[in-house]
Amino acid sequence: MVSIRFLGAAGTVTGARFLVSTDKSQVLVDCGLFQGLKELRLRNWDSPDFDVDAIDAVVLTHAHLDHTGYLPRLMKCGYEGPVYATPPTIDLCGLLLPDSGHLQEEQAEHANRHGYSKHTPALPLYTAAEAVACLGLLKPAPYNRVAEVAEGIKVRLVDAGHILGSAIVEMWVEEQGREMKVVFSGDLGRYGEPLLADPTPIAEADYLLVESTYGHRVHNDENPEKRLAQIVKRAAETGGCLLIPAFSVGRTQQLLYTLKSLEEAGEIPQMPIYVDSPMAIDATAIFLAHPESHRLELRQQQEDGDNPFRLRHLQFVRASEESARLDKREGPMVLISASGMATGGRVLHHLDAFLPNPKATVLFVGYQAEGTRGRTLLDGATDLKMLGQRVPVRARIERIDGFSAHADRDEILRWLSGFQRGPKATFMVHGEKEATEGLAESVRTRFGWKTAIPALRDEVTLGGEG
Ligand SMILES: [Zn+2]
Repeated sequence: MVSIRFLGAAGTVTGARFLVSTDKSQVLVDCGLFQGLKELRLRNWDSPDFDVDAIDAVVLTHAHLDHTGYLPRLMKCGYEGPVYATPPTIDLCGLLLPDSGHLQEEQAEHANRHGYSKHTPALPLYTAAEAVACLGLLKPAPYNRVAEVAEGIKVRLVDAGHILGSAIVEMWVEEQGREMKVVFSGDLGRYGEPLLADPTPIAEADYLLVESTYGHRVHNDENPEKRLAQIVKRAAETGGCLLIPAFSVGRTQQLLYTLKSLEEAGEIPQMPIYVDSPMAIDATAIFLAHPESHRLELRQQQEDGDNPFRLRHLQFVRASEESARLDKREGPMVLISASGMATGGRVLHHLDAFLPNPKATVLFVGYQAEGTRGRTLLDGATDLKMLGQRVPVRARIERIDGFSAHADRDEILRWLSGFQRGPKATFMVHGEKEATEGLAESVRTRFGWKTAIPALRDEVTLGGEG
């Protein structure tokens, strides 16, 4: 009997974990952290509701923590098997996972120092050292190659165009002489994006799990570059800080690339630009080290080795003292800092400094999950709870959807239209309620496929339809 269990990213966007089981093997696709709402984050602490020892392999779609951040915890729970991922994903995990451990330690330490944890002492979910240890489990699975990851289970990873190294997983499951194909979309990227490839079309699947982050919405038609130029110009005029919380991996590189294009075209004034995230610096280097996984190769060659992310007044900030000094800096500047949903990282200290300042602007360029500070600010909060205190919000809050790394409804439908016959069942995952329901309805109307919206911990038997 082949079955799939939805252990995360079911009814929510984070905590992606899907467990495929046969009589012989078990493979976990993605091993993500729950993020956002506290009730979700607390789930990271639950003991796994599956037998860790029975898992033969883990396969990752991409490096974002909501797809990988539970790995060190899984290892703490006893997992010692292989974790397959594309080479860029492995490199990015080398940054993201230790950083996640470091943040967990910092938050526990901060909570202990200020006494706002219910647990004494507050403990990290895992430490940076534990995250480093789990990197040893990662095994390369390059794009477009079929690999047997467990007895009777083969996978092939193809480019999803979401972030560097991101993949759609095609999985062939064999049991008692029958084979079925399950496809996991992972997070799907956009079409026509300057840095990354379009999501690879897939011709067939017996079962499909499709992400639905923006399943009920179409990104605004507005030209995101133009909007960014307006917002940067306004910051230059008011003389305030333009603070952009951004994921270090993907969004930051896209922003730098866009800012550079705008600067070269004379669309924005030259002003100091700070990337305050050691991880973004390293992620940028990893990006340049994997020309096979993005579209920049040609441009780089044409420009004679010019770094496509290098702006004239750009400074990368590594040291934390230097980061703290930015909060006291006067005059206009663009400050890009992680994390993208303001759930942690250096951007918290910058929000603390700039939110009370009416001259400042905070610009969100990525998805803001329920329960994150980013979402709270976009929803119009007048103050924000941070680091155990309340900070008044007087800065201007802006958003640009067009830089999203996620396909919107029409782009998801475009990718689905590549299937030459409808799957026996299509499961809507990785979306909040309205998004999964909206996408399911669009898929039924447009393609007439059978859809399902699994709830957390649902288990579905595959192959029973005949
Ligand atoms: Zn992602």
